[in-house]
Amino acid sequence: MGLLSEGSPLSWEETKKLSDHVRKHGVIQFINLYKRLRDRQGDVLKWGDEVEYILVKFDDDAKTAKLSLRAMEILRILNEKENEDPDNTKSLWRPEYGAYMLEGTPGKPYGGLLAHFNVVEANMRYRRQEAAKLLHPNEVLMSLTVFPRVGAPDFTDPPTHPTPNTGASRSLFFPDEAIYPGHPRFKTLTRNIRERRREKVAINIPIYRDESVPLLFKEDFTSKGDDCSSKVAKDNYIYMDAMGFGMGCCCLQLTFQACNIEEARTLYDQLTPLCPIMLALTAASPFYRGYISDVDCRWSVISSSVDCRTQEERGLKPLKENKFKISKSRYDSIDSYLSRQGEKYNDVPLTYDDEIYKQLLDNGIDHLLAQHIAHLFIRDSVSLFSEKVHQNDLEDTDHFENIQSTNWQTMRFKPPPPNSSIGWRVEFRPCEVQITDFENAAIVCFTVLLTRVILSYKLNLLIPISKVDQNMIRAQKRNAVKVEKFWFRHDITSDIKSDNTQSEYTEFTINEIINGKNGIFPGLVPLVNSYLANMNVDADTHCTIQRYLKLIQKRASGELLTTAAWLRKEVTSHSEYKHDAVITQRINYDLLRKIHSIVSNDISCPELLGQCISSKTTDTIPAAVAKAEKCSATNC
Ligand code: ADP
Ligand code: MG
Ligand code: MG
Ligand code: MG
Ligand code: MG
Repeated sequence: MGLLSEGSPLSWEETKKLSDHVRKHGVIQFINLYKRLRDRQGDVLKWGDEVEYILVKFDDDAKTAKLSLRAMEILRILNEKENEDPDNTKSLWRPEYGAYMLEGTPGKPYGGLLAHFNVVEANMRYRRQEAAKLLHPNEVLMSLTVFPRVGAPDFTDPPTHPTPNTGASRSLFFPDEAIYPGHPRFKTLTRNIRERRREKVAINIPIYRDESVPLLFKEDFTSKGDDCSSKVAKDNYIYMDAMGFGMGCCCLQLTFQACNIEEARTLYDQLTPLCPIMLALTAASPFYRGYISDVDCRWSVISSSVDCRTQEERGLKPLKENKFKISKSRYDSIDSYLSRQGEKYNDVPLTYDDEIYKQLLDNGIDHLLAQHIAHLFIRDSVSLFSEKVHQNDLEDTDHFENIQSTNWQTMRFKPPPPNSSIGWRVEFRPCEVQITDFENAAIVCFTVLLTRVILSYKLNLLIPISKVDQNMIRAQKRNAVKVEKFWFRHDITSDIKSDNTQSEYTEFTINEIINGKNGIFPGLVPLVNSYLANMNVDADTHCTIQRYLKLIQKRASGELLTTAAWLRKEVTSHSEYKHDAVITQRINYDLLRKIHSIVSNDISCPELLGQCISSKTTDTIPAAVAKAEKCSATNC
């Protein structure tokens, strides 16, 4: 969840009073950082993944599966290796929002060799095994985007109770004890977002209309003494009221280092149209609060779960106390491109702070970057620590990071951290996490390969931001891979100069985008393959990459199910399922047990994974392979 400042959190009232202070110094810090680092050159292509996990506790007698709230205990041990020898660890572990969550990354970022693609899955497997060693009997680490019964009665181990009238969330369903207790940031964000908004967050997701779901699906919250929930809960929707429903979901993220700021802007822009496509392809979250929903992805849930906008800002009341009407939550898809090539596709009116924008221009920052930063800085700080209020703006970047790291968008433009060897980076944030390391490695390697192809072939994938926004909505619909069409550029290989951007894109299925459409669009996987054909790849890596590309191709064509489609099928074909969209404790238990059996290779699941899942992935790159690849790259 971005930067984790340590210290004593301020109350919302104190934080609110300091919001101009944080903005003012955050902008100065960005200006100083930009002046220092804008000309930084020659960083090499590095990249790394982030996988989020949940801890599940099975009770095989009672036939229940619950979220185990022991992540902090486990994290403390996992961090020991890193604390002792930070440069020689194969994995890094971080806290996440849930008291049942962990985030794992490789110990070091990967580099530019193709042979690195053969290490990704082995490293993911290593992380899973490393954590598994620390678990209690019947506890399992799972990479599952959403726990089906999160917020349903009795979903935690040990048992907890929500506290609608006290604490950080004030939720009817999600207890504060399920928020990570080891760092004050998470509860502080929860409380401040709720207090800033002046009401609980409200998340409404359509219920899946199975045959026994009542014609009017309406839950009664008044009996719980909660008027506020009854007012905002919509009929025929699954209602949720806490940050934990969104931030308690797991995702798969990727960070790329570019050789300089220009290349980082290009990557940021070019990956933007891929966000909804990859969201649809990785869809893995059809269940919420023990119900089957009618959406396949977490995005709108997580977006609403941290929506700190007041009624004025949401446009429900005329502006009086607030400065801006704001069209999106601070967790949402990006609103503007950053590269010159992207400029003409910035067709969504951008809300930004004029004074900040002007200050950035006056300091030599160009229009596109200035409006991006000024747009991020329409937000207030929602988590501030007393030790961090006063900073040295020439060296520190905490106030900048404070606002930057709580703009949770599909893409993030990451400047180099102070005093580090790290360059300009971009983060790709839309993907949902899959249940197996094989699938996650496939998504990671496919996306990284796409960045290589984009940069080497100078591809242009840009379409108007408004079309990317439309695609984000389509991507989340049930079965989007099979039934939806997405705006996509048809000619991505030649840089046609037209004034009429409308003729540049049309609607494609995911299958056509990934696998190609005869004579009209080459397809992203065929492009990756033609790039690979010109490269010298060792046999094992080649084989691994081909398995990954096949998985992506078959998911896109519908030959294999998406995770969301498979999860739905498992629940709706369970013998206890009553066609009422309800996921009982028993259904949940059987589903999670089955997932664990698949991940442990005890049973196969060809409808999800295909036939060929045996793997040549290795922990390290053999020296001879690395040498051969380096030599072929430099023609030595
Ligand atoms: P955040 O949560 O802010 O996104 P993390 O530190 O959790 O950041 O994850 C950063 C990711 O970036 C990891 O996958 C890591 O391997 C990768 N990474 C680290 N250093 C670099 C670098 N120099 N270039 C590219 N990626 C990097
Ligand atoms: Mg995370
Ligand atoms: Mg992280
Ligand atoms: Mg993070
Ligand atoms: Mg991240």
